[in-house]
Amino acid sequence: MTSFDYIRADGVADAVDGRASALTTKFIAGGTNLIDLMKENVERPTRLIDINRLPLATITETEDGGLRLGALMTNADTAYDPKVSERYPLLTQAILAGASAQLRNMATDGGNLMQRTRCYYFYDVATPCNKREPGSGCSALVGFNRIHAILGTEAVDRSIHCIATHPSDMCVALAALGATVRVTGLYGDRTIPFAEFHRLPGNTPHIDNTLQDDELITAIDLPAKGFSTNYAYIKLRDRTSYAFALVSVAAALDMENGRIADARIALGGVSHKPWRRPEIEAILAGREPSKDNFQLVADGLLEGAQGFGHNTFKIELAKRAIVRALSQAAKLKPAS
Ligand SMILES: Cc1cc2nc3c(=O)[nH]c(=O)nc-3n(C[C@H](O)[C@H](O)[C@H](O)COP(=O)(O)OP(=O)(O)OC[C@H]3O[C@@H](n4cnc5c(N)ncnc54)[C@H](O)[C@@H]3O)c2cc1C
Ligand code: SF4
Repeated sequence: MTSFDYIRADGVADAVDGRASALTTKFIAGGTNLIDLMKENVERPTRLIDINRLPLATITETEDGGLRLGALMTNADTAYDPKVSERYPLLTQAILAGASAQLRNMATDGGNLMQRTRCYYFYDVATPCNKREPGSGCSALVGFNRIHAILGTEAVDRSIHCIATHPSDMCVALAALGATVRVTGLYGDRTIPFAEFHRLPGNTPHIDNTLQDDELITAIDLPAKGFSTNYAYIKLRDRTSYAFALVSVAAALDMENGRIADARIALGGVSHKPWRRPEIEAILAGREPSKDNFQLVADGLLEGAQGFGHNTFKIELAKRAIVRALSQAAKLKPAS
């Protein structure tokens, strides 16, 4: 591990000023991802700004009837807060599907959004990786790619530079719910719709998201509509706990008179960002919940999916998981 300076920020402005003054400075929250990456020499900050003293560990009501989750809320406190678990049970279910109890007690909501890919080549500094070192190549394309992406991998020049997936469970639910990320930087505050926060690799796979270098995530806003009656989070993984998703699905339905009024489906483990296609979800509006309709949507969501050998099984797996998640959300009786 490279040596580094460590300072504690006492206010948001302090933290932002400190980060902006040197690009080799990083914020540290729970440290559950950053410290691992520093130990592997993947991240080599020269200075850490500890943000744990900032007053960002609260959950408050928003004016439009939603909730504001402070960036320093831990994953555990967020999941078990009654305001979240009763109004946004999809989010609670997704958070509790992630990591382990000990990790969720340390990991923060802001850090969860910023966690980096679990691609094993990204962690192994002895191998080429365009995300770690732009232009060096992608070892996963020709190597073992069981956990890698099947959607959104093609770049502007039609080549493929990175097939890493975004590993978060929480973010899949936040994408389905249509959350907003609140950030503060040197030039003030702004909000980023969740769909625009994480990005596809394109020609610049080393850039994971649209946060600017000087910006700090201060909160995540949940809209008033929580889909608390008809929802399901399905996570498929190699072990039943303490493993990242091969494929995950967050499904949320708004039902009116036995028909679907609004449907949200977000996928994890299949792309560089939580995957949503609102125009495909819209197919379900006004339809009855049925396996056939859910299959139609599953096929649409996986349109254009490309496997790279070891991960090709994910295409069919994702389709089946979508049908299952939507069936659970709609409370359809399982086939006997
Ligand atoms: C063994 C293991 C298993 C795991 N399994 C899962 C899993 O199954 N599902 C899952 O979703 N996650 C899983 N995780 C990941 C875990 O959820 C993340 O490590 C955690 O959420 C990161 O939060 P943190 O506060 O510890 O972030 P840190 O490690 O402190 O920071 C991570 C990054 O975020 C930046 N950052 C932190 N806070 C802010 C902020 N407010 N504004 C801007 N930048 C910020 C840091 O600079 C750093 O770059 C696992 C982790 C481990 C170690
Ligand atoms: S998939 Fe992305 S992170 Fe993994 S080796 Fe290729 S470029 Fe690196």
